[in-house]
Amino acid sequence: GRDTFHFYTEDMNAQTLEALTLENDLQRALSNDEFTLHYQPQIDLRSGKITGTEALLRWQHPQHGNMSPEVFIPIAEERGLIVPIGDWVLETACRQIIEWQQQGLPAINMAVNISALQLQHADFYEKLVAVLSRTGMLPEALELELTESAVMQGGEHTSALLQQLKALGIRLAMDDFGTGYSSLSYLKQFPIDKLKIDRSFIKDLPDNTEDKALTQAIIGIAQALKIKVIAEGVETLEQQQFLQHEGCNLMQGFYFSRPIPAEEFAELLSSNAESR
Ligand code: C2E
Ligand code: MG
Ligand code: MG
Repeated sequence: GRDTFHFYTEDMNAQTLEALTLENDLQRALSNDEFTLHYQPQIDLRSGKITGTEALLRWQHPQHGNMSPEVFIPIAEERGLIVPIGDWVLETACRQIIEWQQQGLPAINMAVNISALQLQHADFYEKLVAVLSRTGMLPEALELELTESAVMQGGEHTSALLQQLKALGIRLAMDDFGTGYSSLSYLKQFPIDKLKIDRSFIKDLPDNTEDKALTQAIIGIAQALKIKVIAEGVETLEQQQFLQHEGCNLMQGFYFSRPIPAEEFAELLSSNAESR
C-alpha cells in the first residue's frame, strides 16, 4: 500500500528475482549464441522410417548450464522475447533441413513449435515467407506445431493466417492434443493436418483403461477427419505396439530416440534409411 510494497513470502521474492535475472539473461542469449536446436525423429509406424523431425530449443546458460524449455519458454513468452527467439528457431531449423539434403540424406519434414504470441504478430506471415526464400526450404516440408490455446486465443486474425499458411503449402499440427480447450470446433474451423496425442495419454499405456480409450478415440477422430495422427512420448515397445495396432500413423519418443544434436541426427537418419 501507499509508498511501500512487500513481497508476500520469501519464496515469492526469490522466484521473482529468478524470473528477472533469467529475463535479462534471455535477452543476451541470442546474441551470445547460447541457443541450439536438438532434433527428435518422427517415425512412420508402418515402415519404421523417419519421415520427419521436431526441432526443440536448448539453452546453454553460462552459469546454470542446460535450462529446460519448460522453464525459460514461459518467461520468454511473457516478455515477448519468444518472437525474436522463435524467428531464430524457424530459420535455423529450415537451414538444417537444407544442409542435410546437401549431405545426401533423405528428404524429411521439419516440425517447429510456434507460440501464441508469434502467431498474433502482424508480420509472422511475411517473416515466414522471407525465411523460406532465404533458406530454400520447401513449404511442403515445413510443419508448424500449434497448441489448442494458441489457436483459440488468436480469433479472426489467426483464422485468416492459418488459411494463408495452408495456401502456401505449409502443414499445421495440433500439439499436446487433448489437454487444452476441449472445444473440438476448431478442427472444422481451421485447416489442421495432424493431431499430436499428448504425452500424458501415452505415458500409462497400454495398462490404463481410460488412457487406452482416450487414445483410441483421438485416433478415431483423426481417421474420421482424414488427417494424420502422431503419438508423443512413446517410451516402450508395448506402447509402440498398441499404437501400431490402433492405426496411429506416427510416433515420437525416447523409445526410438531422444532429441539429439544435428550431427547425431544426421547419422541416425542415414542408418535408418539403410535399414529395412
Ligand atoms: P512439446 O512441443 O510438446 O515437445 C515435446 C517434449 O517432450 C520435448 O520436451 C521432448 O524432449 C519431450 N519428449 C519427447 N519424447 C519424450 C518421451 O518419450 N518421454 C518424455 N518424458 N518426454 C519426451 P522439451 O524439449 O523439454 O520441450 C518442452 C516444451 O517446450 C515443448 O513441448 C514445447 O512446448 C516447448 N518448446 C521447445 N522448443 C520450442 C521452441 O522452439 N519454440 C516454442 N515456442 N516452444 C518450444
Ligand atoms: Mg511440439
Ligand atoms: Mg507436445
